[in-house]
Amino acid sequence: TVGMVALDAAGHMRAGTSTSGLFMKHPGRVGDSPLPGAGYYVDSEIGGVVATGLGEDMMKAPLSFATVAAMGRGLSPQAALDSVVYPFIAKLRTRNGAVGEFSYIALDAQGHFGAASNVAFQFWVQTATTALTEYLVTPQPSGRAE
Ligand code: ASP
Repeated sequence: TVGMVALDAAGHMRAGTSTSGLFMKHPGRVGDSPLPGAGYYVDSEIGGVVATGLGEDMMKAPLSFATVAAMGRGLSPQAALDSVVYPFIAKLRTRNGAVGEFSYIALDAQGHFGAASNVAFQFWVQTATTALTEYLVTPQPSGRAE
């Protein structure tokens, strides 16, 4: 999945995903990527989130929506992701014994961003004044994918 969150000079925000889904998927499978709240969510007054990973696990809860809601309560994108994504991964691991890949990026309406992932993950940020820059996310050990 390729996901993008954008903020323009007028303060409008957009989020989008494009995906091939899952390798060897069943015909008709719908993953998290096209589902608002799961694969993406954006509110121009707060911020946006996009996701990639194993849809079967990721769409068990609307984590993109929950992260935007947490930003709406005043958390930074990173703090919001940390409070939503890692506890959910830990809960799934406890209940199911295994979890798939979960990777999220978040951008708020002030241009702050963050990322959370349970695998080595990279994303890129570009602003009006800075060149395209690559960031690497180190997976949280406790949430690591199987
Ligand atoms: N999340 C996508 C899906 O499960 C796959 C991906 O992100 O690579 O359909």
